[in-house]
Amino acid sequence: MSSTFDVINPATEEVVRSVALTSAEETDAAIARAQAALPAWRAVAPGDRARLLRRFADAVDADLENLARLEVTNSGHTIGNARWEAGNVRDVLHYYSAAPERLLGKQIPVPGGVNVTFAEPLGVVGVIVPWNFPMPIAGWGFAPALAAGNTVVLKPAELTPLTALRLAELAREAGIPEDVFQVLPGKGSVVGQRFVEHAGVRKVVFTGSTEVGKQIMAGCAARVKRVTLELGGKNANIVFADADLAKAAATAPYGVFDNAGQDCCARSRILVQASVYEKFLELLEPAVKGVVVGDPGAEATEMGPLISAQHLEKVASYLAPDTPVAFRGSAPEGPGFWFPPTVVLPKSPADPLVTEEIFGPVVAVQPFETEADAIAQANDTEYGLSGSIWTSDVGRALRVSRGVEAGNLSVNSHSSVRYWTPFGGFKQSGLGRELGPDAVEAFTETKNVFISTEE
Ligand code: NAP
Ligand code: MG
Repeated sequence: MSSTFDVINPATEEVVRSVALTSAEETDAAIARAQAALPAWRAVAPGDRARLLRRFADAVDADLENLARLEVTNSGHTIGNARWEAGNVRDVLHYYSAAPERLLGKQIPVPGGVNVTFAEPLGVVGVIVPWNFPMPIAGWGFAPALAAGNTVVLKPAELTPLTALRLAELAREAGIPEDVFQVLPGKGSVVGQRFVEHAGVRKVVFTGSTEVGKQIMAGCAARVKRVTLELGGKNANIVFADADLAKAAATAPYGVFDNAGQDCCARSRILVQASVYEKFLELLEPAVKGVVVGDPGAEATEMGPLISAQHLEKVASYLAPDTPVAFRGSAPEGPGFWFPPTVVLPKSPADPLVTEEIFGPVVAVQPFETEADAIAQANDTEYGLSGSIWTSDVGRALRVSRGVEAGNLSVNSHSSVRYWTPFGGFKQSGLGRELGPDAVEAFTETKNVFISTEE
């Protein structure tokens, strides 16, 4: 007996579509089909597997506007962002389509024979996706996994299944066999849990909260199951007095309020050198008030709504009547889960506004004195995902980059995700790396074979 879930448009609160939820039994059946599909998929000639992935990429490209509109409706992403997200799936598929023909092993010199290594697929890979970036995060898992010869079962977040379901249709149209890539909408506690527990799933790729990530890791440990975790962040945007202050202030809102702050890479702490702290806040205010918040489907919109009523309530709970709010941007009235860009000036480093991942459009601005001070404040968190450093001193940019304990740093910019380069977290922000030239290795096992040449 399967139940259904009503997908809600977060900008209007209207029901978009009702989606059937996959049960535990249906999940087990899908995993069994993925296991059965494995021998044929791994036997597809490397050049043919590459061609299928390129066809899948082309199908995504041909459907880009439809996918983007679907994400605007399901997730409230701005149309500009949603187009980038669909384009990212296309690009990641193209990038890893080069992998099947380059899965090189090694010939290692040994006495008495020949020794070679093979990069074998793991088997069935389970990908668990959060609601904040439904398309890209799915692609970072399934593209390299399929390229390496694995079959994939993918669970989108319950709130945001629509683009993942469309991607599964596009895969089929491109000629990827049905049971090689299956999308199973459903609950984390049902479908996701089966990925962790089922012995037939050989690896879990999880993106989501640190809290659930710890449970996934513990569940996988019980079966020595491979696991990749991409978790939360409380990332610092460090602005030194010698920086291009106008540019640092003008871009800071987009470093944190993009996707309404629902981004594990959001720079939700701005650390500003004390000598320019007041000046920076003066420049920041018009930039924050200038963020265009509204209908995510409109071309000029820069920030849409939060994902759900429940999430809006959680974000709002961080702001009490006595919270030191410096200034706020705007948000529409009426239906939709709206929250304005908000800048706060917490007094204590222990304030939850400084320590907790709010996952909404709220940023804390704090002063620091010295370079060492900036690094210490940036590292005063359990997380370590991303961050930015604004300075005109190249030596300082490199010293601070080496000092900050985070996986993805950006100097005089706010870039975290670029599919050519590795992405992932230090400390409690995660385990393993996605994207970049080495990601396919995380979807293979090294097999060593020795062949005797003795008579
Ligand atoms: P979440 O609650 O951890 O859920 C993430 C995914 O895991 C969803 O698909 C969810 O399913 C599933 N899940 C929940 N409980 C599970 C369980 N017991 N077993 C297996 N799967 C389970 O996170 P969220 O609320 O969707 O997303 C927000 C969080 O994700 C933030 O903390 C953010 O920092 C983090 N995040 C990190 C990254 C990164 O790359 N580091 C990227 C994006 C988001 P349901 O659909 O049932 O909830
Ligand atoms: Mg959740």
